[in-house]
Amino acid sequence: MMQTTIQYNSKTYQIDLSDPLDISIPLKADKSNLTAWYVDAPTFEPVKGDGFIGDVNQGGSVNFRNIFFNPHGHGTHTECVGHISKENYTINQCLKEFFFLAEVVSIIPTKQAADLVITLDQIKSVWNNNNAKAIVIRTLPNGSDKLSMQYSSTNPPFIAFEAVQFLIDSGIEHLLIDTPSVDKENDNGVLKSHHTFWEYPHNTQLNRTITELIFVPETIDDGTYFINIQIASFENDASPSKPILYKILT
Ligand SMILES: [Zn+2]
Repeated sequence: MMQTTIQYNSKTYQIDLSDPLDISIPLKADKSNLTAWYVDAPTFEPVKGDGFIGDVNQGGSVNFRNIFFNPHGHGTHTECVGHISKENYTINQCLKEFFFLAEVVSIIPTKQAADLVITLDQIKSVWNNNNAKAIVIRTLPNGSDKLSMQYSSTNPPFIAFEAVQFLIDSGIEHLLIDTPSVDKENDNGVLKSHHTFWEYPHNTQLNRTITELIFVPETIDDGTYFINIQIASFENDASPSKPILYKILT
C-alpha cells in the first residue's frame, strides 16, 4: 500500500498509488498494433552507420532505435486545441496539471443510420454531478479487439456535439474516449465535436484536452476515480499518453 490523501473541493479522498489502473494501449512495431486514419503500422528500426548498429542482438553495444509512428493513428494519445487550430498550440504548453477527479462511464452507442453515436440523452443518463474535471467514456461492446483494430474506413462510434456541449457546461475539461475520434471518421473536415469542446476559434480553451484510443478493461467498474494523465513533452498538437486511474478508497 502507498496511500495518499487528497483534499479537493472541500472533500477528502484516499487513493492507493501502488494500485494504478492503466487505461493506455501499448504501442509496438507490429502489424497487430492498432491503426486509424490510413497510417501503416509503426516501425522501430536500429540506427545503422559507420560500423555501428543500434541492436545488441546484431553485435551492437546498445539498443538504439529510430521510431516512426503517428500519435493520432497508432494508440492512446492526448491532444489540445492545436489539433484543429491555425495557431501552433502544443500539448506540452496546454496540459499543465496532471491529476483530476474523473468519472468512468460505459455507453452502448446509438445506431443512427450508418453511424454509432453517443448521444446527449445517453451522456445525461450516466452523468453524476460530482465536480469531476475528467470523463472516461468506455463504449460497449468492449472487446480486446480494440487493442489491435484496423479502424480506417470502419466509421467508428463518435460523440454528438450536443453531448460534448453538455459535458463542458458541466465542468469537464478532459475528455477521454476509446474510439479514434470524438467526431465521425469522415465528416468532410467539419469536426464539430472537437470545435465544440475547445470553443475554437471564438472562445478558445487552451487547458482542455481530448484523449482518444484508450482501453478501459472490464475489471474497471464505472464510477468515480482520480486520473493521472501523463504525456511525453512533445511540442506538437498531440502526444502519446498514459492515463492512469486510481480507485477512491474512502
Ligand atoms: Zn486524435
